[in-house]
Amino acid sequence: MNRQLLFCALGLSFAAILPLCACRGELDERHSGMEIPAQSEAFEDVSVTAQPYAAPTEVVTSVPSAEPTVTPEPSPSPFPGTEYMPLTYEEKTRLVNFDNPLPEDYVPRDLVSAKELLGDVCALRKEDSLIQYEVGLRLRELFIAAYDEGMGEYRVCDPYRTQEYQASLWDSRVSMYPDYGKNPYEEPVGVMPGNASEHCAGLAVDVCSTAHPSLDVDFSSTAEGKWLIENAHRFGFIFRYPADKTHITGVKCEPWHIRYVGIELAEAMYGSELCLEEFIGVNMG
Ligand SMILES: [Zn+2]
Repeated sequence: MNRQLLFCALGLSFAAILPLCACRGELDERHSGMEIPAQSEAFEDVSVTAQPYAAPTEVVTSVPSAEPTVTPEPSPSPFPGTEYMPLTYEEKTRLVNFDNPLPEDYVPRDLVSAKELLGDVCALRKEDSLIQYEVGLRLRELFIAAYDEGMGEYRVCDPYRTQEYQASLWDSRVSMYPDYGKNPYEEPVGVMPGNASEHCAGLAVDVCSTAHPSLDVDFSSTAEGKWLIENAHRFGFIFRYPADKTHITGVKCEPWHIRYVGIELAEAMYGSELCLEEFIGVNMG
């Protein structure tokens, strides 16, 4: 993907890509117990109030870009009576890792109940999980498409996490292994510090399935895992931590951790064999 093509892609209207486009046909009975109402019916039934126009409190500067960025316009939400402000390109492509931590008080905007937004199209490990609204909408599209293409029920394990919670996960690892994370590029980690997790940025979701409910590499060998690998990019998600990039990401292979970057970048990255650090470095100067 050269710069020209990438920026051309970026010039596409956000409004053109954000409306939900999946039109579901009649559901069959392949997956008993998983009743996903047709999209229009679902939206009539679900009432989620995003908090539109809550501008990020932090200026997102982690992704270098010399090109003018698109100023998003409010988009009509599929939920009646609401509209939301799409994530900016800078927000979607924000690099969060050991070397690019989040500000301590960073909280992503437009966090909503994952149960209300996704509860009818997937299983949830935690009923009280929060998810960033646009990320959840794209994930909703993904699950409906997967179902239409014969997949079983997916399971969302962790969408947004607070930095406090993430820090508790990190601290417990460090207490068990005092050298944990000291040299992640040689000894990659499985848990990030509280300020270096994409979950805390609202951009990552851990996904497995009801048939394979644990987060491990074997998920990638299941039908749902394979489908996710082959199709997540259509909905704006990338696999953030490939097995052959641990020396760059500092994180072990995690085929369950998908990261929202927006459809343009996900499509561009798909098949590039580059991780986000490399892609941003190669393509964004
Ligand atoms: Zn994760």
